[in-house]
Amino acid sequence: MKMTTMKAGPSFYRDTWADIDMDAVEENVAALRSHLPEKTGIMAVVKADGYGHGAVHTAKAALRAGADQLAVAMLDEALELRQAGMTAPILVMGYSRPEDAAAAAAYDITLTAYAEAWLDALALDGIVDVHVKLDSGMNRLGLKQVGEIRSFGRKAAAHDSVRVTGAFTHFAASDEKDLSFTREQLEQFTFQRKTLEETTGTLDSIHAANSAAAMRVDEAALNTVRFGISMYGLNPSAEIQSDLPFPLKRAFTLKSRVTHCKHLQRGETVSYGRSYKAERDMWTATVPIGYADGWIRAHQDGDVLINGRRARIIGRICMDQMMIEVEEPVETGEEVVLIGRQGGEEITMDEVAGRVDTISYEVPCIISSRVPRVILINGEQVEVRSRFTF
Ligand SMILES: *Cc1c(COP(=O)(O)O)cnc(C)c1O
Repeated sequence: MKMTTMKAGPSFYRDTWADIDMDAVEENVAALRSHLPEKTGIMAVVKADGYGHGAVHTAKAALRAGADQLAVAMLDEALELRQAGMTAPILVMGYSRPEDAAAAAAYDITLTAYAEAWLDALALDGIVDVHVKLDSGMNRLGLKQVGEIRSFGRKAAAHDSVRVTGAFTHFAASDEKDLSFTREQLEQFTFQRKTLEETTGTLDSIHAANSAAAMRVDEAALNTVRFGISMYGLNPSAEIQSDLPFPLKRAFTLKSRVTHCKHLQRGETVSYGRSYKAERDMWTATVPIGYADGWIRAHQDGDVLINGRRARIIGRICMDQMMIEVEEPVETGEEVVLIGRQGGEEITMDEVAGRVDTISYEVPCIISSRVPRVILINGEQVEVRSRFTF
């Protein structure tokens, strides 16, 4: 067989993809920038590959729009950003092993610390910057009691290899209508932070707010806010949609194209298990996305958009494909929108999340790397991020 040279450059050969609108990310960050006091910085949270949008491009978009720091969940994610040439301050918000602090120090990455045993186990030549995690009510990571905060603070302040540059906490319920627990947490955090500062001296970086608190609780702004979900244009929760101080613009659009269309006679069934049965003569179209793409089986009976109208997903969703009910025959190649706008219709992330009993955060995160991410800046495709690089 004759081998031909493949076209160089990023490309993909399937008709299912996500458009990622970096202009929307910039607009969301800029809107928060105008909403916050000038002295409050913005830490763009780009963990989990930027919530499935692509960490490097979303980080760059956020920095262009006024963010001044980045945050991730784990050291690997921070190193990916450094490897891509990003020079902004980066905080790892989760646990890092003490033996990995040398790698963090070498790449000027700030770690999160909250345990004396962790300080004892550090063995590095350089100095690692840390933010101290204080637990004001989430009960996940962090120091809680006055005694343990003092004891940790003294040890950290005396440590040759540690520089404490900040302190933070995390809210458990700032995306709920009722903000009373968030205000209690903020009060508790202020007390804990002052206790810590008795041993470390005044800290430059004090932060508590996630997206919901950054937009809704002015007193929680402090030195910095950690802006995650809403930087991608998504609501922290459906119940606070009407409380948001500025409109958010969704960056993530999921699209596919029809691969086959066929007529069904009354009584015929569709897909595995024959759970869908045609109650009349009808048309169905096949769409090449399935649960291996993160388009899980629970999306069955949900809507997609085709020809500017809603169409229902029928029968079981397969690993790589699913079927929809269409009103009339459609061409192979006809565009299908699973998340986003087409014509005058829109399927929002909240609709899709609600359908499968989850929150907006989970949906783009679990769309797998088999679905290429088409990065758009100024409406132009600048890169395709895919598991396959051809
Ligand atoms: C993920 C995360 C955030 C961002 O939260 P959003 O609700 O997405 O804005 C902030 N802080 C911590 C500690 C986190 O883990």
